[in-house]
Amino acid sequence: MNKNILSISIPVIDDKTNIVRFHFSDNTEQEFFIITCDNCHRKFFSMNKNALCNNKDCYNARRRERDHSIYNFYYNKLSSYLGQAKLKLPQNVKSNIELIEEYNSQRKFYTNQMNNRIKEYKDNNRLPDKELDEFYNTIQNEVKNFCNKLKEKAEKNDY
Ligand SMILES: [Zn+2]
Repeated sequence: MNKNILSISIPVIDDKTNIVRFHFSDNTEQEFFIITCDNCHRKFFSMNKNALCNNKDCYNARRRERDHSIYNFYYNKLSSYLGQAKLKLPQNVKSNIELIEEYNSQRKFYTNQMNNRIKEYKDNNRLPDKELDEFYNTIQNEVKNFCNKLKEKAEKNDY
């Protein structure tokens, strides 16, 4: 297979994600991200959004990051938020077995969503970033809305 680079283009996506697109002689294209390594701050090409380059030190740093589970922060934060939200539910919700079961199963759903996202990050060697923060905030808002719905349901039951 003989692949020659015909041209290179840099589509402007946004300020943070620099993408370079290679056009090959066999009419195929490949996109690469230009990433600044979190560890050595050198720029490198990557086919996914790795935050660390493949230099030995950075690779080791990546292993440490993975092993050290910096991601636990998000899991723990959500877990304690869900615990607090349950405690703060009004008494008419807490004493309603159906509503509490609904809360518990929804709690599992939110926890799974967070875990799946964290797994994606780990699998791609991607360090937590603003996007993960935003994802966390979205889930937290969903929890708030869900708790409000439970309160409404309990109030309807009372009358
Ligand atoms: Zn590096």
